[in-house]
This record gives sequence, C-alpha cells and structure tokens, in this order.
Amino acid sequence: MANIDWRARAADLRIDGRAFIAGQRVAAKSGETFDCISPLDGRVLGPVARGRAEDIDAAVACARAAFDDGRWAHKPPAQRKKILQRFAEKILAAKEELALLETLDMGKPVQYSLNVDVAAAARTIAWYGEAIDKVYDEIAPTARSGLALITREPMGVIGAVVPWNYPMIMAAWKLGPALATGNSVVLKPSEKSPLTALRLAEIAIEAGLPDGVFNVVPGHGAEAGEALALHMDVDAIGFTGSTRTGRRMLEYAGRSNLKRVYNELGGKSAFVVFDDFADVQRAAKTVAGSMFFNQGESCNAPSRVFVHERIADEFVAIVKNETPKYRPGDPLSGSAEMGAIVDDIQLRAVLGYIDAGHAEGARLVAGGKRVMAETGGYFVEPTVFDGVRNDMKIAREEIFGPVMSILRFKTEEEAVRLANDSSYGLEASVWSDNINRAHRVARSLRAGMVHVNQYDEDDITVPFGGYKQSGNGRDKSLHAFDKYTELKTTWIRIDE
Ligand code: NAD
Repeated sequence: MANIDWRARAADLRIDGRAFIAGQRVAAKSGETFDCISPLDGRVLGPVARGRAEDIDAAVACARAAFDDGRWAHKPPAQRKKILQRFAEKILAAKEELALLETLDMGKPVQYSLNVDVAAAARTIAWYGEAIDKVYDEIAPTARSGLALITREPMGVIGAVVPWNYPMIMAAWKLGPALATGNSVVLKPSEKSPLTALRLAEIAIEAGLPDGVFNVVPGHGAEAGEALALHMDVDAIGFTGSTRTGRRMLEYAGRSNLKRVYNELGGKSAFVVFDDFADVQRAAKTVAGSMFFNQGESCNAPSRVFVHERIADEFVAIVKNETPKYRPGDPLSGSAEMGAIVDDIQLRAVLGYIDAGHAEGARLVAGGKRVMAETGGYFVEPTVFDGVRNDMKIAREEIFGPVMSILRFKTEEEAVRLANDSSYGLEASVWSDNINRAHRVARSLRAGMVHVNQYDEDDITVPFGGYKQSGNGRDKSLHAFDKYTELKTTWIRIDE
C-alpha cells in the first residue's frame, strides 16, 4: 500500500462508461452520455452511457430471458456457490483498480476503498455463495393425509438501485443474496458513482456468471432509475438511497405491477451517552471516528449525539480535540482520514446545513468551512455543533456530510424521548456502565440496529436496516434471502 503511486495509476487508468447488457459493453441506444466528474479535482473522468427507458427495456428483456431458460436459476446451488466464490476472488484480484475507480469517482480515501469497500464487497459475494448450499426448505407439521412443502423460489428479475456513498458495497448487498438465490439482476448505479458497478459486471462474467444474469445500466435517477422501477417485467426492487426516492419507489410499484419494494433509506442516528459511563474518552473518540468516516456520508452516521449535561463539557472538548485528525486531505495520498464530498451539489447542501446551524443558534465548536478549494475538489472540515436542540434543522434532517450535532440532556426519560423523536430509525447507540439502564434504553430505542458501549461492530452475518422512514427491507445476513425469493406451499395428498 505504502509504495503504490496512486496518482500515476490514475493517469494510466482507462475509463469505460458504457453500459453492460447481455454480457457485453454497449453504448446507450440514443448514443447519449453524461460526464463522470471526479470530486477530487472537478475533472471529467470520462463519458458514461446515459441509460434511458429503451436501455432498461433491453436489459430487463435479457435478464428475463436468462431467468426463464434457467441458465442460472436451475444450476444446483453448489454450482452457483462456486461461481460466486470465483467472482469474489476476482474482485480481490482487481482490488487496486477497483479501489482507485471508487476513490476517483466518489472521493473517499483510497486506503479505505481498498481495505473496506473492495474487501467488504468481495466478502459479501463470497458469503452468500457459501451460504446458498446450506439453506434447507421446510415441511409443515400437517395431518398424515397430506404433505405440505414450504419452499423458497427465486423471484425472477430484480432491479437494484443504489447510492453513491458505498457504491460497491451497496451493489454487493443486493447482488449477493439476489444472485445466490438464482435471480437475474439489472443494476442502476448512482449517476455520481457508476464506474465500479460496471467493472463488477465484467468481472462476474469472467468468473463464469452466464451472460444476461447481471446487467448494469448507468443513468440518471429520473430516467433509468424510474424506468426500472416502473417496469412491468421487474419482480422486485432492492433500493438503497434517500427517503425521498424511497417514497417514489413505492409509488412506482403502485403505478405498475405492484412489484416488491425493499427500501433501505436515510438515517439520523442517535448516540446517547450517560454520565454513569466511566470512559468518556472512548465514547467521544468513537463518535468522532464513526461520524467523520466516509466524509460523514454514511446512512448510519451517529449525527445526533445526546450527552448527559454533567459530562457534556468534557465530552465536547475531547470531540473537538479529535477533529484535526479528520481534516480532509488528498484521497490518493494513502494517508488522508477524510476525502472529498461526492460532488458540488452535495458540497453546497452540506454548507447550507452549516449555515442553518449558525442561523438557528447552535454553537460551532469545530470546522464549518470548505477547504482545499484550490484543488478544484469538494472538501469540508469535520464540523461539530454544540447546544443543538432537537427541533433544529441540523438535528431533524439527514445532512449526509461531516456535521455532528451535540444535544444535552438531564434524565434517561428525556434522552430516550429525544432520541426517538425523529422520522428516522436506522441505528442508535447507548453508553452506560449500568447494565439495567443499558438494556432498558437499548430496548426503548426505535431503531433497526442498536449498539451498547460501542458503535463500530459490523458483520455480514447480521441484518442491516431501519425502522420508520429509514426503510423496510434488511440487507445482509440470511434474512436478505427473504427479499429475493417467493414463498411457495405445495400440497401433496397421501393416501393411507
Ligand atoms: P438518492 O435517493 O438521490 O439516489 C439513490 C439512487 O436512486 C441513485 O441510483 C439515483 O440515481 C436513484 N434515483 C434518484 N431519483 C430517482 C427517481 N426519481 N426514480 C428512480 N431512481 C432514482 O440517494 P443518494 O443521494 O444517492 O444516497 C444517499 C442516501 O442513501 C442517504 O439518504 C443515505 O442515508 C441513504 N443510504 C441508506 C443506506 C441504508 O442501508 N439504509 C445505505 C447507504 C445510503
């Protein structure tokens, strides 16, 4: 890692932004493209196919044909396993190229693209491949006159629509369970980060996935994304993105074929620290690390931090001291802890929230400004506001940038009430050395994932998803198989 000259590699990189349909790279039918811009310096990386409804139609038709003839769905699970394992190995073999593409495309530090994103994407694909020949169906405990088989069958054609913050991981969370169970997939990556998804499709075919089983159509949300979600021949949508678009996904299903919609949406996660937690330093360092990781562009970033008033000053001082560690730097240096915000639009949105924090009377403790503007890239300092109230815009809305809001509380009842007073419910954390309080509060927090005295643990073996307007589906773990399979009951009569 230390001796890789990422800048030199970037200069040599060949960017291919064409779509991937039926096992081949193809231009959009209209011939149109859009510019793929790097947030590192505002430079155009290359043209990307601007997929529209006619390209989605072609990809869905080809995914349907692949599903119907059973070239993938009818393979024994053990064979699908082998191919998915090979797919994962080939992702790792291409790890440096993929990491570089990810960083150039969406701005995160390259060592994280390499060690977190590529590694997690490969592990996800391998894990689902390894699992699929170990899952059994059921026989119901019925009367002797019949045998009721309860089986799971692949759904057919899955439309996957994913965001830009972890492009490869989000794609892998859909692809792993959808492909392992025998479905065909049409993936629509974010227009802000389409490059790694396109490479993943090529790598999958090299690994032995039959043509047409995995297709990628890049394009804008309101064009390619909408066409996929409205398509009459798509059986389910696996969506990760904003709550605003998730709402649309449900409408598209209602207006078309009532396809299943699994939404993994935004968050405004609460991090609650009680004064009976002795190691204030660890809690404060953890929240800084988790909040500023990935430039704060994480759905589960702990952006609402509730601290008991007795320890709040000490806590805020430690968080403030941590922020210089996360100052943005060159994402290709291999040593920057924070990289660039994905694009100019998101940069302006984040700065707008910082303005709103000032305007509503929150107290700026650290950061607050755009930096490194001379590079042409989109960098923002790690920013901390203290004295935030839960009704302020910066406490209610998902910022999706490196901005932390600290709120002070007096009692356990108040902390739980405030933490739950959010339209989101993705993740939460409680810090207490009192085992009763820790369990009590963990139970009371309305979130799909709750941590006690830590925030970093994560594993492919556990479900990921939220309550309330953070969505309905669950990515990861064996539970994700439920999203991409239909449950069938088959009754067989048995005569005595
Ligand atoms: P977004 O909703 O703008 O876009 C997500 C995807 O949807 C993109 O591919 C986009 O092109 C597409 N899209 C946009 N408008 C569309 C439309 N009208 N019809 C069809 N498709 C459309 O979200 P984003 O800005 O890319 O991502 C950030 C959001 O993702 C944040 O809210 C974040 O919390 C969320 N997220 C959630 C999870 C999770 O697991 N819960 C994980 C990562 C990100």
